[in-house]
Amino acid sequence: MNECPPPPDDRILGLKVDVDTRRGMEEGVPRLLSALPADTAPATFFLSFGPDNSGKAVYQALRSPRFLLKMVRTNAPGLYGMKTALYGTILPAPMIAQALPGLCREIEARGHEVEFHAWDHRAWQDTLPRKDNRWIREWLDRGLSSYEGCMGHPPRAFGAPAWLLTREAVAVLSGYPWEYLSCTRAPSPFILSGTGRMEVPSDLPCLEEVGGPRGTGAILAALSKGGIHVLPVHAEVEGGIWREALAEILRGAASLGYRVAPLSEIAAMLGSRNLPVRPFGTALLPGRAFPCSV
Ligand SMILES: [Zn+2]
Repeated sequence: MNECPPPPDDRILGLKVDVDTRRGMEEGVPRLLSALPADTAPATFFLSFGPDNSGKAVYQALRSPRFLLKMVRTNAPGLYGMKTALYGTILPAPMIAQALPGLCREIEARGHEVEFHAWDHRAWQDTLPRKDNRWIREWLDRGLSSYEGCMGHPPRAFGAPAWLLTREAVAVLSGYPWEYLSCTRAPSPFILSGTGRMEVPSDLPCLEEVGGPRGTGAILAALSKGGIHVLPVHAEVEGGIWREALAEILRGAASLGYRVAPLSEIAAMLGSRNLPVRPFGTALLPGRAFPCSV
């Protein structure tokens, strides 16, 4: 008996590239633009526009300025780089995408998509659960005005930093004209209650969660079942020391019959399906230090 051919949208891979740091923008994005030709690997870049306060995470974790000074002396290397680990503490916080509007527009000119990820990424990630609607609205408005200043048009979508939502955030987000959201790590797309908007989640694990380059097999195993998937990518990481691992995933996906599509196309494709309507939940995913929205 002949096997039925798979439907044309059976194997689609979205690349959601988050840019969280100045270094990711300045160094990771140009490398990814070289590595991802838009005709075969059109990606959707979610940019952070405001201050890079990455160092506050380290500072919060260590609570010790002396440890930070020791890191400076030893020039400790790391995935995110030494300077990044100090931004917003003993080094001033540089602006991320807002400081590089030409590069923002180049992403789009090269055939990729640019969407809105953050004003102050760390502030959302570290303090959102304590913030009220007004703070969230101001954070969004500053970021959106920066986005429009750089790009000359509004974004289609928002991807919440650290895949973190609160009920207050959902209430505020419902007042903005997003075409879709990409704010969670849910296993499949849904309509986010209270917003009426489609949530296109990053359903695959990111490389950091599967042990780095040796974990590419876990991602390809998840792809082997077919369907529509979104891979979360970080410009700092897959546009940095793990870029060969990303290339390996893309080769593997191609050999499994996947076509890479931008997230707006995936959202349009899913728009014709009868997606469940539900609120977001919270889960601690394997390989992650903090819970995220699902
Ligand atoms: Zn991020």
